[in-house]
Amino acid sequence: MLQAKGKSVFAGIAIGKIFVYKKSEQQVKRVEVEDVEEEIARFHKARNTAVSQLQELYQRALREVGEANAAIFKIHQMMLQDDDFKESVENMICTQKVNAEYAVASTEDNFSEMFTAMQDEYMRERAADIKDISERLLEILGGKSIATVESTEPIIIVAEDLAPSETVQLNRDKVLSFATVQGSVNSHTAILAKTMGIPALVGTDIPLDDTIDGKLGIVDGTNGMIYVEPDEEFLTLMQERLREERKEREALQTLKEQEDITLDGQRVMLHANIGNIKDLESVIQNDAGGIGLFRSEFIYLEKDTFPTEEEQFRIYKTVAETMAGKRVIIRTLDIGADKQCDYFKIEKEANPALGYRAIRICLTRPDIFKIQLRALFRASAFGNIAIMYPMIISVDEVHKIQKIVTEVKAELAEQGIAFGNPEQGIMIETPAAVMMSGELAKEVDFFSIGTNDLTQYTLVIDRQNPKLDEFYDSRHPAVLKMIEMVVENAHKAGIWVGICGEMGADTEMIGKILAMGVDELSVSPGSVLPVRKVIRETKVTEYKN
Ligand code: PEP
Ligand code: MG
Repeated sequence: MLQAKGKSVFAGIAIGKIFVYKKSEQQVKRVEVEDVEEEIARFHKARNTAVSQLQELYQRALREVGEANAAIFKIHQMMLQDDDFKESVENMICTQKVNAEYAVASTEDNFSEMFTAMQDEYMRERAADIKDISERLLEILGGKSIATVESTEPIIIVAEDLAPSETVQLNRDKVLSFATVQGSVNSHTAILAKTMGIPALVGTDIPLDDTIDGKLGIVDGTNGMIYVEPDEEFLTLMQERLREERKEREALQTLKEQEDITLDGQRVMLHANIGNIKDLESVIQNDAGGIGLFRSEFIYLEKDTFPTEEEQFRIYKTVAETMAGKRVIIRTLDIGADKQCDYFKIEKEANPALGYRAIRICLTRPDIFKIQLRALFRASAFGNIAIMYPMIISVDEVHKIQKIVTEVKAELAEQGIAFGNPEQGIMIETPAAVMMSGELAKEVDFFSIGTNDLTQYTLVIDRQNPKLDEFYDSRHPAVLKMIEMVVENAHKAGIWVGICGEMGADTEMIGKILAMGVDELSVSPGSVLPVRKVIRETKVTEYKN
């Protein structure tokens, strides 16, 4: 039995077949298509996108590394526009009635085989370029994303790393667990595992080779271990633990529809965090009192172009209607840092966590912001939606948001489009917002403390850096003092304040947080009932100094 250690992201046991996910070696599926013209149009569109991506890369390389090194991107553009390559793909789509992905992958194989067999060394090297341009096309076509991982049985994914945009696409019915070699416990990939409620490990010391692919694996999220090919005795032991875990989960079901109130009568609003409409099922199953954080940027991350107003409106409306009058706090897009979206075309930054992200993008690109705001205000006519703005650092930013919101509402009114009157709040996740919380509280309807980023920015620790996991500490007294200050200022101004960062689910901290007066906790759906249990067993007075 092979065993490897990782850092636990979400507790629990998973037993299933291991699937080693290597980004560059995903199999492309052959799919028969009906509309050949449409498939060729898809290929042309992807080819145009690839050419413009390469043009941008060429320009950047020209500036940064000079003409000689940039030339490769020009060569790749030429290869993509080459008639032989184009005709081969088109021909295959037409004659075999196959999807563009398959036609590109087959052309890649044929051409690279042909180049590899040539005498001329220069031509032989072109095989790698063919591979490169084909990979680019396949990525654009979406044919090589993790979403296409096909399996008939539930699997444990083992990968070098998973980006948030890949994690969000995982098929929840099929993925039991994942273990990555890279990654930090505070990253959004880790947060997504919690939202999905699946045992997961990052920083796992496991060989990513074919010897483990397809073998039986066990992930022990509680102890941060992964086992491959367990012996009979160990497997039986872990199966027993899995059965016990299920029993414990069932026991928690008795807490459904119970009030979120402490032993000494302090009421708490207990909400759930989601990143996707697919998480709603789990929100309802776990009986959350509402949604305290809908990370709307995941709608953007799942797509390869901007989601339209209509698309967003439909999603927000569905969430509001499904929650049937319960509060749904939707955070405006928090793209940037580790959540990168190619089509936003954000230039590479030396310090992305301190860079162009979230509200900074929205305020400088109001065209994007306004589309989301229109969708949100329209959807707010269909349920109890609240809007929340991330990464705020000043009152001035809130004034700028208010001005844009006034414009959006005036436009909707002029067009005769209905909209509601949603609560509007901000995230407190920067030390600047904490220090300005007295002034900010007068401008908004509520605060939600983002302890993940607040910890990162207060302790000056990159939450993405796995080497710093041991230093990253949301319970640091500096963070706790900040929470205390924010709660005091919020209550002075008569507004409510919640926590939507991971600290909200830190059961050992709940007594202390509630003693500070925090009104709301928003946690991953799977943590709702365990947190409710702790709330109901807590005597807040015991935690007051
Ligand atoms: C936070 O920073 O605590 C938060 C909830 O937002 P995110 O984790 O998405 O940055
Ligand atoms: Mg944050």
